[in-house]
Amino acid sequence: IVGQMQQGASNILVAVRCRPLTKKEKEIDDTNLIQIIEERVVLLLDPQFKYGDKGSRAKEKQYAFDYAFDENALQKDIFDKTTNFLIDGVLNGYNATVFAYGATGAGKTYTMLGEVNSPGLMLMTFIELFTKVEKLTLERAYKVKLSYLEIYNEVVKDLIHPTTSVLDIREDPVKGIVVAGLAELMATSPDEVIECLQLGNMRRTCEPTEANQTSSRSHAVLQITVEYKDKASGTESEIIVGKLSLIDLAGSERASHTKNRGIRLIEGANINRSLLALGNCINALCEATERGGKVYIPYRDSKLTRLLKDSLGGNCRTVMIACISPYSGSFFDTSNTLKYANRAKNI
Ligand code: ADP
Ligand code: MG
Repeated sequence: IVGQMQQGASNILVAVRCRPLTKKEKEIDDTNLIQIIEERVVLLLDPQFKYGDKGSRAKEKQYAFDYAFDENALQKDIFDKTTNFLIDGVLNGYNATVFAYGATGAGKTYTMLGEVNSPGLMLMTFIELFTKVEKLTLERAYKVKLSYLEIYNEVVKDLIHPTTSVLDIREDPVKGIVVAGLAELMATSPDEVIECLQLGNMRRTCEPTEANQTSSRSHAVLQITVEYKDKASGTESEIIVGKLSLIDLAGSERASHTKNRGIRLIEGANINRSLLALGNCINALCEATERGGKVYIPYRDSKLTRLLKDSLGGNCRTVMIACISPYSGSFFDTSNTLKYANRAKNI
């Protein structure tokens, strides 16, 4: 229990990213429910408002965040403001985590992994990391390693070297949290990394009803471990390890929203467990910051939070990117995502 009590971290940054309306959505209803003001404030309009009923603006809500990105924000803008600033810390032995949170279709995978002509945070991180490692090469000997895993139904699966065995999360006194048997690749170039991530993403569990469509219930976790030794102090120098976790979370829509029964509902319940546990941990960390004291952080409540125990809170930095859609039909998901993100802020 002592290990789970933590001094609060004022190190949470919350950003919101709104994607553009898709062509299909525009054909059905081209109302845009989101307005972004001064890169900080998100205004969620009332979906009824378009019918001209002025009395119906009651549902309109306004939230302020560290950053709010509209549909024109480039992948590079998102990287520069939410992730780039973490890299120096990781190169100096600190841990950090970046999450993409939001309903299915809100833009999480686009933000984290990206697309062929529009690489996301994962690849941009490696490009920046390798550039910085190169510059430090006279003083320090660096090793960059990566692992890529999925948590699906509270089971951990390797996305680099898939096996049938269930992988266990353990706590090592020296290494911190480790996943026993998980493949770790030495990363040497961004090209190699992008191939590995794309392959890994294809191995994510697919929706049982739709072939080739990634399950909205799967959390994908890329962990980049950076180790160095000072060259000047010779063989006796200590190894310093930093870790950056980049996470494409499962869809945040509720199980009750899906019309599926049976197995799919069980999956939904499990996903909610990890997302709920994550929310509870982040809220507890915020509370600890406000109160300035020690607060119980419920890391053990899910696989995701157990895995991130050494990467959330303490002196770790945490970034949450809440992805939303401006589509009128997504009003409830958008509203729930903004509420969740709003709770994660430090007050
Ligand atoms: P999620 O992973 O949250 O389910 P995706 O990242 O797959 O959602 O995005 C859903 C769709 O919207 C995809 O077709 C994607 O290309 C598109 N999309 C998402 N975000 C953006 C964006 N910022 N700009 C352009 N298209 C986007
Ligand atoms: Mg996705």
